[in-house]
Amino acid sequence: MDFSFTADQDALRAHLQALLGEVCPPGYAERCDGEARPPREAYEALARHGWFGLIVPPEYGGTGGSPIDLAILLEETGRHFEELAMWVFRTLTYGGYAVLAHGTHEQKERLLPRVARGELSFCFGLTEPHSGSDAAALATRATPAGDGYAINGQKVFTSGMDLSDYCLLVTRTASGTKKQEGITNFLVDTRLPGIEVRRIATLGQRAIGTTQVFYNDVRVPASAVLGEVDRGWEAVDAYLWYERLCLSAARTGAAMAAFDYALGYAKNRRQFGRPIGQFQAISHKLADMKVMLDIARMLVYRFAWLMAQGKATRHDAAVVKLHTGETYKAVSDIGLQILGGYGYCMEYPMQRFFRDSRLATIGGGTSEIQRNIIARGLGL
Ligand SMILES: Cc1cc2nc3c(=O)[nH]c(=O)nc-3n(C[C@H](O)[C@H](O)[C@H](O)COP(=O)(O)OP(=O)(O)OC[C@H]3O[C@@H](n4cnc5c(N)ncnc54)[C@H](O)[C@@H]3O)c2cc1C
Repeated sequence: MDFSFTADQDALRAHLQALLGEVCPPGYAERCDGEARPPREAYEALARHGWFGLIVPPEYGGTGGSPIDLAILLEETGRHFEELAMWVFRTLTYGGYAVLAHGTHEQKERLLPRVARGELSFCFGLTEPHSGSDAAALATRATPAGDGYAINGQKVFTSGMDLSDYCLLVTRTASGTKKQEGITNFLVDTRLPGIEVRRIATLGQRAIGTTQVFYNDVRVPASAVLGEVDRGWEAVDAYLWYERLCLSAARTGAAMAAFDYALGYAKNRRQFGRPIGQFQAISHKLADMKVMLDIARMLVYRFAWLMAQGKATRHDAAVVKLHTGETYKAVSDIGLQILGGYGYCMEYPMQRFFRDSRLATIGGGTSEIQRNIIARGLGL
C-alpha cells in the first residue's frame, strides 16, 4: 500500500516504532491486561518524548501536527497496545482538541501547555444508563448554584475516570424543544467532593477499563464550562467525529498486530507435515484479513486527509468507524481460529485481541448506528 506520507511523517513513524518497541515489549500488554494495571510507564515515556504536544499549537508548547500525524501516532500506539492508544486519544481529544476548539483564553493558557507536556489525563462522560445510542437524551443536570453550578446525575462507561484529572462531562442545563438543546459541557476536576467512581468488570479492555460515575451535588465553578452554555451539543458532535478518527486509527493498528501474530503462527505451526499456512483454508483467511486491513488503513488516512482539508462529513466518519471496528473484530476472531486451541488459551495473546476487539463495534457509537448514519446520507 502506498500512501504518500511526507519525509517528516515517515520520521515520526520510525521514532514511534523505536520508542514503543522499547516501552511496550512483547508481553507488556498481556501483563497490564492480566493485572488490570494501566500502562503508565509507556504513557509517561510518550509524554517525555513530547508526543502529547502533537496536535497542540506551538504557542502552547506543542508542534501543531495534522490529523494525519495524529492517525500515525494512534495507529502505531494501537499496534503496540490498544488500551495505551485509547488513553492517549482521550487526553488528546478531550484535553487537546476540545479545549483548542471551544476553550476560553484562560482555559487554553492553563490547560494546553500541561496537556502538551503529558502532565494531565482526560476522559469523556457522555453515556448514561438510560441514554446510550440515544446519547442526546441524557439527564445528568447542572443547575446554577452560587458562582457556579451543582451537578447531579449518573454516567456509565466513563473510561479512564479513575486515572484522569478532568472529565469532559456532558450535562443538561435547560429543557429545549429538541433533546439536543439545553446541553452544556464542563471540564470537571475528577477529584471533587460528591464524585463516586466504581470500576465495571468487562470482557476486555481490562488494563484501564471503564467506570460508572455518580455525581452527587458536585460543585463546579463557572470557569469549568467548556464552550457555550445550553448550546454544547454541536461541540459534542465535533468531538465524536474527532474520536472516530482516533478510534479507527488505534483499532486498525491493533488489528494489524493481531494479523501479524496470526500470520507468523501460520508460517510456523506444522500439521500434516507442513506449515498450516500452506493449507488453502488458512491462507485464504489470511488473504481476506490482509484485504480488510488495507481498506481499513486507506479509510483511516483518507478520513484524516478529509479532516485536514476541512472536508470531512458525518457520513465519512461513520464509514471509517464502521469498517475499522468490524475489521478489528473479524481479524481477531479469524486470527483466534488460525491458532486453533492455542488461540483459546490465556497465555497466547490472541484471546486478548479477541476480547478487546469486541468493543470496537459498540464503543464510540455502535455499528448499527453507523449504518443508520450512512443510510441517512444515502437519502434513506
Ligand atoms: C468498555 C466500554 C467503554 C466505553 N467508554 C465510553 C466512554 O469513555 N465515554 C462514554 O461516554 N461512553 C463510553 N462507552 C459507551 C458506548 O459508547 C455505548 O455503550 C454505546 O454507544 C452503545 O450504547 P448502549 O451500550 O447504551 O447500547 P444501546 O444504545 O442500548 O443499544 C443496544 C443495541 O441496540 C442497538 N440500537 C440502539 N438504537 C438503535 C437504532 N436507532 N437503530 C438500530 N439499532 C439500535 C445498538 O446498536 C445495540 O446493538 C463505552 C462502552 C463500553 C462498553
